Amino acid sequence: MITWTTKNGVEISRILSRRCNCYVVRHRGRFLLVDTSRRMERENLTQALDSLGITRLSLLVLTHCHFDHTENAAFVRQRFKASIAVHTSEAPLLEAGENAAICGTVWPTRLLIRAVTARHIHRFFRYRQTGADIRVQGRFDLGALGFPGYLLHTPGHTGGSVSLIVDNEIAMVGDAMFGVFKNGVLTPFGADAGQMVRTWKTLLDTDCRLFLPAHGKARTRDMVEQAWRRRQDASPLIGH
Ligand SMILES: [Zn+2]
Repeated sequence: MITWTTKNGVEISRILSRRCNCYVVRHRGRFLLVDTSRRMERENLTQALDSLGITRLSLLVLTHCHFDHTENAAFVRQRFKASIAVHTSEAPLLEAGENAAICGTVWPTRLLIRAVTARHIHRFFRYRQTGADIRVQGRFDLGALGFPGYLLHTPGHTGGSVSLIVDNEIAMVGDAMFGVFKNGVLTPFGADAGQMVRTWKTLLDTDCRLFLPAHGKARTRDMVEQAWRRRQDASPLIGH
C-alpha cells in the first residue's frame, strides 16, 4: 500500500492496484473511497478497508461507469453505508448496471475495438446495478462532507468521467490518464481522445502536483505537461 500526504495532512492510500487502482482518502476520522475494482477483488478490497479500521465510508466516488471500476459498487454502498457520487450523465448507467461506450484512442486499440466490437461492452460486462446518491455536474465541493477537495467533470475517456482533487495538490483521475507505460499519459481506450487531452489541461489548471490514475503508477505534473504540449504540436490532433 502506498500512501501520499498533502500539506494539510490528508492521507491518500492506494489499497488495490491489480485490476483497477482503488484509493482511500482519510481526513480527520472520515474516509472516502475512489472506485471499487472487479468482483474477483472484493475480498481484497474488504480486507484492505477492514485493516484500516473502516466500518463506514462517507462517500464512494466512481470516476466513471466501467465494470472494472463499478463491479463492487453495490456491495460497498451496502456494506460500508456509502453514498455514491457519479456524474449526472452516467447515473442511469449505474442504475442499470451498464457500461459507458468506448473507442480506441490509438490505432492498435481502434483496430481491437473494431475487431471485437467492444464498443458494446455494456452487453458483455454488466455489473450489479445500484443507486446514484450524488449526481455530479461540473464541480462538486466536498467541504460539507468534511474533505478539503472537490469532484471535477473531466470527460474524454467517457462523457461523464470525474476526478477527485484533494487540497489542490493531488488528483485521482480515473482513466483520464494512464500510468502503465513508461512516461506515457494517454489512456488507450476512450470515447473522445481530443476531449481527453483538453481534460489534461483542465487538470493541470488545478495546480495539482501529482495525478493518480486508475491503472498504473502516479504521473507527475511534468509528465502531464509534456504530454499535453506534445499533443498541441501534433497536427492533426489524435483522431478517434
Ligand atoms: Zn474506463
